[in-house]
Amino acid sequence: MKITKVEAIHLRLPNVTTDCDGTQDNLVVLVHTDAGLVGIGEVDSSPTVAKAVIEAPMSHYIANGLANVLIGEDPLEIGRLYEKMHRATIYYGRFGPAIHAMSGIDLALWDIAGKHYGVPVYKLLGGAYQKKLRAYASILFGNTPDDTFKIAQQWANAGFTAVKFGWGPFGKDEKLDLEHAAAARRGLGDKRDFMIDVGCCWDWKTAVRREELLRQFRPFWIEEPLLADDFEGYGKLSNHVSTRIAAGEGESGVAAYEHLMRVGDIDIVQPDLARCGGLTAGMKIAEIAKSLRKGVCNHSYKTGISIAASLHFMAAIQNGVILEYCVEEGPIRQTTTIEKFPVINGYVDVPEAPGLGVNLNWDTIEKFRQK
Ligand code: MG
Repeated sequence: MKITKVEAIHLRLPNVTTDCDGTQDNLVVLVHTDAGLVGIGEVDSSPTVAKAVIEAPMSHYIANGLANVLIGEDPLEIGRLYEKMHRATIYYGRFGPAIHAMSGIDLALWDIAGKHYGVPVYKLLGGAYQKKLRAYASILFGNTPDDTFKIAQQWANAGFTAVKFGWGPFGKDEKLDLEHAAAARRGLGDKRDFMIDVGCCWDWKTAVRREELLRQFRPFWIEEPLLADDFEGYGKLSNHVSTRIAAGEGESGVAAYEHLMRVGDIDIVQPDLARCGGLTAGMKIAEIAKSLRKGVCNHSYKTGISIAASLHFMAAIQNGVILEYCVEEGPIRQTTTIEKFPVINGYVDVPEAPGLGVNLNWDTIEKFRQK
């Protein structure tokens, strides 16, 4: 079997706002083969930037476009192809967009492998420790504490046993932060878990003080409290607070995650499979996390493609904590795949169909496709 084409499809809603909502656009990646199998992946990045990485003409040996690198290759040699793509982009890649684009291709290659061997991807990753994953609803804070209270009630009533609130008005003012956290805890009741995603805005001493005040609401973790590059700050923070610190959704490449875990000493690392380097990098990151005694939680804010990949990933690692499940409403997020991956009593089943277990909804693709 040989790769014949790598297709990058940019989807975008007609009206995109400046909200911190990554479900307004997407880059779906299709890897075609001469055997008729088509692998499906997606990229969580700037879609047009990642698309350019895939489609770029060759400049020279280590500044190439990813499609050039893959045409004619055997799609089943996933690990070697990861290294080949990495090598071919090191002048402009290593971190950021090149790894983002590689992620979508890597997911598509795992999808092809599963379809070729007739097994769900988790079996190729080593097998499932769990066939059903506890999921937390992932949503933004409301504009006011009252809105946050209502959002908490909505997702508690939907059966979730854990809800994460993020970004929006949070992080800017101590008093308001406490009001939002109190509203979230009140809306969720005592028994559910509650995560706070701060939005990368504090220095480490502000974070220490805020954690002291927020502890009364028993957050399960506090996520990305610091500026993204403040690795030393994460290290100091982690050694000063008792609440778990989670971070890492914005990193890409195995080396970056290892640095974050070692220097930042965070408790829970959050690779996004559509950005970190796909399942190939994700499994390596999880293995490093395991050796450092850290937990792993997927970051995932795109479509059913990312949900499926995250389910296979989280099922196949021993140190998975809980599945992130984006509940943002939007037609690209909700209807790009036929499969909906429903959350029932707070849990989601791991797909059992060959490959990732997703089928594209071509009505959605054609409706939002950018020419
Ligand atoms: Mg986050």
